[in-house]
Amino acid sequence: MINLSNKVALVTGGSRGIGRAIVLMLAKAGCHVAINYREDIKSAEGVKKEVESLGIKANIYQADVADKSQVDGMVNQVVTDFNQIDIVINNAGIWINNPIDSMTEDRLKQTLEVNLFGSFYPVMAAVPYMKKQKSGNIIFISSTAGQRGEAFYSPYAATKGAIISLTKSLAVELADFNIRVNCVAPGWVDTDMTKPTMNNSSEVEKVHATIPLKRIGRPDELAGPVLFLASELSSFITGEILNVNGGAVLCG
Ligand code: NDP
Repeated sequence: MINLSNKVALVTGGSRGIGRAIVLMLAKAGCHVAINYREDIKSAEGVKKEVESLGIKANIYQADVADKSQVDGMVNQVVTDFNQIDIVINNAGIWINNPIDSMTEDRLKQTLEVNLFGSFYPVMAAVPYMKKQKSGNIIFISSTAGQRGEAFYSPYAATKGAIISLTKSLAVELADFNIRVNCVAPGWVDTDMTKPTMNNSSEVEKVHATIPLKRIGRPDELAGPVLFLASELSSFITGEILNVNGGAVLCG
């Protein structure tokens, strides 16, 4: 029932983890994909190959989402290469331990610039094209941390909370232009980001204890809900925050 065969999606941080799973799931639905990465070109090239093996067009774009001029260049290049940009998935993010009493200005800025400004910039660049096309679909990736906070990760939680209000603001602002804006808020997911914690067996027990389904998620379990929001199956949904966390946020 989901067919995105005439669509083009840009996925930031599409080379690894949740972003990679989103790229592959969009491609399986027939969507052509622009895969953004920052430094790990091997992973980006690997995903591109996987997509192409499905007969779907894929290009990779090196850009730091925290750098507006790099993001502007990337979005313009995507439109040049694909002639359109229908879906933007703002997925790139970093999760850095930052206790308030040892936080430096640089470390604070790093998280704000990647997670928050890096969610604004692709949208700022893509919306003018979407308005011209008279359609668009924007999906942000927040976190349970954005809903209930996260001790020792306050800059991360603050950016993810801001992404939720960004989603609600833009959903209303862009509705007249046939542009939908939604958000997926993951709980714990098995990616490189969480490996250091999940490789520690005592931490694993603590994490599982906070999740009613008693396990962390797989990246493809996040990609499915993103695909739903990217598709016409969700055509009457905008401004929504979709929790995908095994029930975790209910008992945080
Ligand atoms: P990973 O660390 O596994 O992958 C991060 C991806 O983002 C990589 O493709 C990386 O590219 C890219 N990236 C990082 N910084 C930048 C940047 N400045 N510019 C462009 N690309 C960048 O992360 P996850 O897949 O786990 O997380 C994806 C999203 O999901 C994030 O927003 C995260 O906050 C959110 N999330 C994840 C959870 C989890 O448990 N994993 C829980 C809740 C939310 P490269 O390798 O080239 O640097």
